[in-house]
Amino acid sequence: MSEFDQYDTQAIVEMDKAHHLHPWQFFDLFRHNGALPIVKGDNCHIYDTDGRKYFDAVGGLWCNNIGLGRKDMADAIAEQAYKMSYASAFVDLTNVPAAELAAKLAQLAPAPLNHVFFTCGGSTAVDTAFRLIHYFQNCRGKHDKKHIISRKNSYHGTTYAAMSIGGKPGDHPPEFNFISDIIHHISYPNYYRCAEEGMSEEEFVDCLVQEFEDKIEELGGADKVAAFFAEPIMGAGGVIVPPEGYLKRMHAVCKKNDILFVSDEVVTGFGRLGHWFASEDEFGIVPDMITSAKGLTSGYMPLGALLFSDEIWEVLNAEGSGRCFPHGFTYSGHPVACAAALKNIEIMEQEKLLENVNEVGPYFEEQLKTLEDLSIVGQVRGRKFMVCVEYVADKQTRELFPEELDIGKRISNHADKLGLICRSIVHLNVMSPPLTMTRADVDFIVDTLRKSIELTVEELRSEGYFAG
Ligand code: PLP
Repeated sequence: MSEFDQYDTQAIVEMDKAHHLHPWQFFDLFRHNGALPIVKGDNCHIYDTDGRKYFDAVGGLWCNNIGLGRKDMADAIAEQAYKMSYASAFVDLTNVPAAELAAKLAQLAPAPLNHVFFTCGGSTAVDTAFRLIHYFQNCRGKHDKKHIISRKNSYHGTTYAAMSIGGKPGDHPPEFNFISDIIHHISYPNYYRCAEEGMSEEEFVDCLVQEFEDKIEELGGADKVAAFFAEPIMGAGGVIVPPEGYLKRMHAVCKKNDILFVSDEVVTGFGRLGHWFASEDEFGIVPDMITSAKGLTSGYMPLGALLFSDEIWEVLNAEGSGRCFPHGFTYSGHPVACAAALKNIEIMEQEKLLENVNEVGPYFEEQLKTLEDLSIVGQVRGRKFMVCVEYVADKQTRELFPEELDIGKRISNHADKLGLICRSIVHLNVMSPPLTMTRADVDFIVDTLRKSIELTVEELRSEGYFAG
């Protein structure tokens, strides 16, 4: 008898279909297909209820950093749950893991970011940033500094403010409402898709910076703009690595105009780019705020954090102001989640996972690049353990496949059957594997993806797609 015999796959799928509304559920597809039930994890691998094994190159959802199924993590979580599973962090209570984690994050973050607010995940960290920005600006008497600027195609989470700050067109369908009076979107730094023909990367950056300055002017100048949000490398928006100098120059515009720079490191933090945080160590900027989640606990427990600077803290904490900070979640500073984060950091330090990313990451980039010889691969991009493959119908013109063809999904369906999970986003396959990934794992991913792309090309050919 196998450990998987206890599961009735069909019954689980039907229960799930009947009662569970999934994030990003496409109703018509889901009604027919349901979802694949996963029951077990072991480092980079996951197993479904029938015992099929897959290499999870998505790392859950950009969050499985230390690997699944770790006994040491489970023990740390169990120990804290047994000792003290919950204590409120409101007003005048705290708990040991929350205090220790706040101090540890202050130590790992860029020097001036010494203050932490704990949330339940990434979206709530972004929402907290949004509220804290206005609170800070009001506290220092800048009552007109209300506007927020972010980028088209960015993703910052799914709560009301976070989704309004995000700029992915597919996430802004007419059935939902958004905050539109004080949130504005400017172009995103996709040189491959958005630069005019013949434009150098430098000229492209000049245009983006000019657009940012023009937007500030249009909104009434520096006195009206409160903050700028950016992911150092855009994740869900298609793993967009900004051209050289872009972030530094956008940061300089913020400094010049007294605008807060919020770096959304929900994905790029905690080792994905080989550093605790990528803003300073990978891109040379020190933001005023950093949002973090996902890799902070490697997904073992839900937890997010907003880190912010001494400069902001000093305004909030002004002696004698009599102010309160009326913001917080029941689970802010949750002791079990904080204990999980502390253990996660300890494991990353002891097992030198950042070093592994810096060693295996360039090999991953280089090997994945070899897929560019395939007829439908337009661009392989990304950095270290955050990469993506973009498919095109025509390499010369970079024309995309029709959306209804769902090219990324077709390829990832083949990959699933070959034992590889890679996420599809329309015409992309996105990967963010656990930081434990080895060179041999890279070879498996690249070989399997190549086969999946070749199978898809054959399939399209047999459907007459490439006829003539
Ligand atoms: N910010 C970024 C850059 C993200 O990629 C995500 C989630 O993917 C979020 C925020 C939201 O995080 P959560 O899903 O934990 O709320």
